[in-house]
Amino acid sequence: SRGSEFVVVANRLPVDRSVGADGVPAWRRSPGGLVSAIAPVMRRRNGTWIGWTGAPGEELEPFEEDGMSLHPIAQSAEEVALYYEGFSNATLWPLYHDVVAPPVYDRTMWDAYVRVNRRFAEAAAKVAADGAIVWVQDYQLQLVPAMLRALRPDLRIGFFLHIPFPPVELFWQLPWRRQILEGLLGADLVGFQLPGAAANFVRLCRRLLDTRYAKQDVFWDDRVVRARAFPISVDVGELNDLVGRPEVIERAQEIRGDLGDATVLLGVDRLDYTKGITQRLQAFGELFGDGHLKPGQAVFVQIATPSRERVEQYQLLREEIEQQVGRINGEYGEIGFPVVHYLHSSYDRSELTALYLAADVMVVTPLRDGMNLVAKEYVACRRDLRGALVLSEFAGAAAELKRGAFQVNPYDIDGLKGTLLAALNAEPGEQARRMRSMRRRVIEHDVDRWAQDFLSELERPVRSVPSPV
Ligand code: UDP
Repeated sequence: SRGSEFVVVANRLPVDRSVGADGVPAWRRSPGGLVSAIAPVMRRRNGTWIGWTGAPGEELEPFEEDGMSLHPIAQSAEEVALYYEGFSNATLWPLYHDVVAPPVYDRTMWDAYVRVNRRFAEAAAKVAADGAIVWVQDYQLQLVPAMLRALRPDLRIGFFLHIPFPPVELFWQLPWRRQILEGLLGADLVGFQLPGAAANFVRLCRRLLDTRYAKQDVFWDDRVVRARAFPISVDVGELNDLVGRPEVIERAQEIRGDLGDATVLLGVDRLDYTKGITQRLQAFGELFGDGHLKPGQAVFVQIATPSRERVEQYQLLREEIEQQVGRINGEYGEIGFPVVHYLHSSYDRSELTALYLAADVMVVTPLRDGMNLVAKEYVACRRDLRGALVLSEFAGAAAELKRGAFQVNPYDIDGLKGTLLAALNAEPGEQARRMRSMRRRVIEHDVDRWAQDFLSELERPVRSVPSPV
């Protein structure tokens, strides 16, 4: 075959396996905005998506599903432990999130990261048509751009980092800092969530590789590598459809009914140390200790979705949170009026939408977060202009939502307490004014717009490297 004109390379394929009522396994499109934004582009352009099925050791031939060509990449159980749980999630994840947990630096993990990245790059080199567009996603695959360029210099290569990119002083710790940076510089366009992250990247290029540059263009290897910000967003159309469904509205009313007359505060996070869950529960608990709140008057629903459960730090965090919830309820709760409802489970889009509609205050207080889609989903769902968003200054979403949100420094427990109270007590008029301004931004800049912006920048003709003066 001639190959694909458009190739997406991501750790995971955009489908999950589910077992139907007849017991036969079938593929279903994965939830989330990224897949829904890219799937139409894939169909229009005869695209191929390269990724892992999620099953260790599984080797599958390429197949078609949901109008997309899917190209599975195998990962052994050992590679999953070293490349994915190890280097990606125990090294890069904490390092890129301001070292809020100490990163693990392990040479065996690094070797696996190189090996698996090479496998992805070789697959992309094989399936891409002459001059095709290749779009590489996220921190698990930062070596792919340079590996792919070495194999296929004809391709136009884009890379998007979904998580933060750290300041030079932190990135410098990484024993393989040069290899990672040179890996990224294989791309024509390196996309980040925020302009500050793009600036960190350009500064790193100057400091580590002594590259020439002009604004956000880096000159490397006789090419121009563009660093730009493209804040990712949510699928507003899908959420609009969900909030209009009678069963979702009914479910929201049922949740409200179950929680009595209390004002409902809601947190929805993967159980991750970057999310600031313990700080926010500490602040909420103290409001009862201080007498600012009484049981039955306000209640916190904290969804903590199971995540990376084989990584030790995640196991420790779970124990810490579960002890803390027990302590808070034991100390401040009354019969029939717990202070915190803690749910360690994963929910589908329609249940989450019902929760968003039931919540008076959405509490999004990560210590560091690339974007935080939950904050934007809450805003997209509140067509009624009710509800308040408490938002960390350290979430990428703060750059766009800061005027409408109740902003907070999540490390400042007293600040958190004051901000939670301010959000709880906001009058409907103020809620509407704030929500309207946030909704304007999210509706204009949804995930389709994000994908279009990235791809049109990637396809823009590039200027050549200026000669040295
Ligand atoms: N989510 C979900 N079910 C859950 C919890 C979360 O589908 O039980 C979704 C949520 O709606 C959001 C995404 O997972 O779209 C989380 O993205 P976010 O940027 O907030 O955080 P991340 O988990 O990527 O760090």
